Amino acid sequence: ADAASDRGVRAFLHVNAEEALADAAEVDRIRAAGGTEAESLHPLAGVPVAVKDNIVTVGQPTTAASMMLDGWMSPYDATVVTRLRQARMPILGKTNLDEFAMGGSTEHSAFGITRNPWDGDRVPGGSGGGSAAAVAAFLAPLALGSDTGGSIREPAAFTGTVGMKPTYGAVSRHGVIAMASSLDQVGPAARTVADAAALQQVIGGHDPLDSTSLPEALGDLGAAVAAGSGRSNLAGLRVGVITDQPMEGYHPGLREAFEQRVAQLREAGAEIVEVSCPHFSAALGAYYLIMPSEVSSNLARFDGVRYGNRVVPDGGGTIEQVMAATRAEGFGDEVKRRIILGTYALSAGYYDAYYGSAQKVRTLVQRDFAEAFEQVDVLLTPASPHPAFPLGEQVDDPLAMYLNDYTTIPANLAGVPGVSVPGGLVDGLPWGLQLMAPAREDARLYEVGAAVE
Ligand code: GLN
Repeated sequence: ADAASDRGVRAFLHVNAEEALADAAEVDRIRAAGGTEAESLHPLAGVPVAVKDNIVTVGQPTTAASMMLDGWMSPYDATVVTRLRQARMPILGKTNLDEFAMGGSTEHSAFGITRNPWDGDRVPGGSGGGSAAAVAAFLAPLALGSDTGGSIREPAAFTGTVGMKPTYGAVSRHGVIAMASSLDQVGPAARTVADAAALQQVIGGHDPLDSTSLPEALGDLGAAVAAGSGRSNLAGLRVGVITDQPMEGYHPGLREAFEQRVAQLREAGAEIVEVSCPHFSAALGAYYLIMPSEVSSNLARFDGVRYGNRVVPDGGGTIEQVMAATRAEGFGDEVKRRIILGTYALSAGYYDAYYGSAQKVRTLVQRDFAEAFEQVDVLLTPASPHPAFPLGEQVDDPLAMYLNDYTTIPANLAGVPGVSVPGGLVDGLPWGLQLMAPAREDARLYEVGAAVE
């Protein structure tokens, strides 16, 4: 629970050691007593979960790694947290992230960086670097993340773990601090595909408190894993590789490693199909207009009146001056950059040119995927163009940071599920293999993921 047991990774912003231990002891007591209560325990009862700190929890602070919410305690639990409690899975603590989940390295946290357990001089990815690092460093067996443009999958790729962004609406967003509501999705971080599936089974399913929640359940994800794991013959599986996705910007070793994995799948009997997704590359630009537009609206509530630590200018001020001072002090640079960008993209006179065009691109990306999935069962890409980069390398270069999301963003724009499974090592660092499937086919991703991991 202290810095030493964190081994310098600094994955957690808050450790809930005592309560988690008490919750686990209670499960032990129930199990030892036997009888109907023991029999009705969830199979994962007693297994602790770390929770990204943009997911609200009663009894533990929720900061979203922002000074704006430093010290804030939520009066209610997110639905995913309620479901963990119902399954008696102890909540181990709250993990570090880029402020309000904006970033790809966890360096934009107001409370310090998290280090990559594989190499302490490198980033763990972001925004959910804390959750991925906690799992990779064996500080937690499971963690929750949120993925708006890759924040579960990129950290999984950088830390050699499994990170799944479920179908949009498959997991409730109630109690998840909104970044870009049409893209945000909660999902599991784990060390194996089976573990990730088990956690999604607990947190997923319809929630009346989230109006975008899917009405139907997505089937037995554990059975999907069982069907896929250990399968050495992949005959009948159609795997799509995107041809018009320029890989020039990729780390050369990763590009080679990816091609080797594709060859291995072919040898195992999978049919490799070259598919065209002409708007794949345009997704990044569309995302960086749609996402900040939604951010500018969602973060309006942090004004020191409705939410956020109020800052009153010296000598007092009008309510507008108080709100301005609150936001000037409470938000970090990256958050401000996105609010300004989004406000601009939505302003009269620019709306059609920026936000309107981006929405059209979003539709085209969705259509590309729909056509691709008529020919293949899953799409395969690297989860990130390169392995974990050194701390400090991109923190002052927003464009370079945004380019990390090149392969993860399309799944958010289209609302389809995507998972990063360990691809192997390049230059001694892990890289991630991303699989994507049509919307609602999360079980298919777990099945294929279990076969290829
Ligand atoms: N890196 C992306 C961004 O900064 C992804 C963020 C996320 O998924 N929360 O927007």
